[in-house]
Parts: sequence; C-alpha cells; structure tokens
Amino acid sequence: MQFIDEARIRVEAGKGGDGVISWRREKYVPKGGPDGGNGGVGGSVYFEADPQLSTLLDFRYKKKYEAESGNAGAASNCTGRSGEDLIIHVPVGTQIRDATNKHLLADLVERGQRILLAKGGRGGLGNNEFKSPTNQAPRFKTDGKPGEFYDLELELKLLADVALVGFPNAGKSTLISRISQAKPKIADYPFTTLVPNLGIVQAPQEHQSFVVADIPGLIEGASEGRGLGHQFLKHIERSAVLLFLLDGTDEQNPPAEIFKILKKELGSFNKELLAKPRLVVITKADAIAEELLAKYAKSKIDGKKPMIISAVAGEKIPELIALLWEKVQAMKADL
Ligand code: GDP
Ligand code: MG
Repeated sequence: MQFIDEARIRVEAGKGGDGVISWRREKYVPKGGPDGGNGGVGGSVYFEADPQLSTLLDFRYKKKYEAESGNAGAASNCTGRSGEDLIIHVPVGTQIRDATNKHLLADLVERGQRILLAKGGRGGLGNNEFKSPTNQAPRFKTDGKPGEFYDLELELKLLADVALVGFPNAGKSTLISRISQAKPKIADYPFTTLVPNLGIVQAPQEHQSFVVADIPGLIEGASEGRGLGHQFLKHIERSAVLLFLLDGTDEQNPPAEIFKILKKELGSFNKELLAKPRLVVITKADAIAEELLAKYAKSKIDGKKPMIISAVAGEKIPELIALLWEKVQAMKADL
C-alpha cells in the first residue's frame, strides 16, 4: 500500500541581465571607446533532498518559484551582478516530472542530493564586446536570455509518521479531520471496503509536517491478516510512532482496560510494534462526566498520566500535535 503526496508548481530561472551601450568619458580624451559591460547571468533553480522534510505540504501554499534575474551591465565595462540561485528543499524520495510531457527530470533519493533543474539565462553582451579593428565604436549590445522554466509535478511516496491505534468509534477519523491540512492520495490499495484514512499535519515548526494514518479495522482481526489491517501493520512496522486513542465515555470499558487489549492485539502481530514510541490519549473529553474526568486525570495508563483530548471541542489539540511532532522528530533522527 502506498500513500502519495503530490504537488504542482512552476519554477523559473532568472533572466540574464542586458548588455549596455556606453562610451568611455575621460578628461582630455574627446571620444572614448566603447565600455558597455555585459549583463549578469540569471540565477538557476536547484532542488535539494532534505531529510528534515516529510511531505509536500508547503507546495500547496506556494506555487511559483523564481530565481533572481541578473543585473544589466554598466559603464566602465562593469558586468552586472549575477542573479542569486534558488534552492528548493524537498523531502528525500521526491520525484520531479515535467508536467507537460511527464518526463522524469529528477529522482532525489539521497539525503542532501542536489540537482540543477532550470538554468539561469546568460547575460547579454555590452557594446565593448563588439569592438573590432573595423568597428571601433559599435552601437550594439544584446539582451540577456530568459531563464529556463518548467511546470513541474512533484510526487512523494509517504510513510505514516504516526499511526492511530484504537477500536472503532474511538474518534480516529474525527481526530484526523481535525488536525490534518491535506489529504494525500492513496495509490494501489487492494479491492476492499477498508480505505485508509490519512492526513498531513502541519507541525508547530514552520515548513515541517508529518503524516498521520488510520486504518479502519486495524485492530479487529488485523493480526490474523484480514482486510487492510495486516498490510498496514507491515507499513507501520517501518516507520510510525503509535498514537493510542481510548474512548473515555464508557464507564463499563475504562480506558486502561482498552489500552491493555489494544496492546495485546498489536503484540500478537509483532512484538516489535510494542517497542515503538507511543503516546496514549483519552478521547471525547467534552462528553466525559466531571467526576470521571477527575478520576482519569489522577490515573496512570502506560505508566504515565494520560492526555485527555477532545477532537470535537478542540481541547488539547495543539499540545497533542506538539508532542507527536517531538516523537516523530526523535524517531527520524534515529533513521
Ligand atoms: P473512529 O471509528 O475511531 O474513526 O471514530 P470516529 O472518528 O468515526 O468517531 C466515532 C464517534 O465518536 C462519532 O460519532 C464522532 O462524532 C464521535 N466523536 C469523535 N471524537 C469526539 C469528541 O472529541 N467528542 C465527542 N463528543 N464525540 C466524538
Ligand atoms: Mg474511522
């Protein structure tokens, strides 16, 4: 199963600066020769694979990326300043295609890998360049060339950074819709009624984001390999921080008990899942009676005070995102 994040952007390298026509003016030299300088070269557009990034979320907000143009030349044979190159950071694993013909232009698989995608335009020539024995006073110059430009499709195969673990009705879908800013595409999942639900979450830190995924039916029968559950467990084995969601509204099924059952289910599939970093929260705070809330607040689940959230009322949601982000970062640092 694959989750795919996509974005479409335009990149434009800088135009070269124009050459200029200019004449030397010196004291006692009545007619100076040509001294028009060349234009500076335009900035190029590069892409760089950045292990800090997880999704293409930023590219949904900004669609056009331009490198700086070169400056025009100046008198005294001064070449114009070159345009600054633009380096666009993308997550490791990003593929870049030309949107018009679908050709693969780059596949950034290694950390720090950098490619030149659109070359800046050459600067134009100033009139000094056209000086020759037969023409000592050329009155021409050329303009800077335009930079290369492309409409691009970016594509990234995502891993779930955070996998939600919880029984049906625990509030997994509600939480995802509350915290996610975008829905990635889900590619080639087998024919089934169980469609994974996932979203991209904006991290507290600018330009950072992570992926949260939930599979309906992860728990029921997942360890026996039914439905999508099994495949999804394989997927989270590779990547995720686990977020346990425990419904706090049912006094007959206390969260601490629910947690034990969930843990057992996961462990019976693969013990290693229990070694993953995890966070345990009680859901639906807005619908839990006061006394019960007070009791939960004093209780310990998984050796810690459980966080009590409400996706509906927005309670403790920023705190939850911050904690998840912390764990996701710690996990990535170990990769
Ligand atoms: P899932 O099966 O784990 O995906 O659970 P859902 O997100 O579909 O939620 C199950 C039910 O619980 C729905 O009726 C939701 O409206 C409700 N629910 C989810 N989160 C909250 C919450 O924070 N507060 C309240 N009062 N209800 C919630
Ligand atoms: Mg659901």
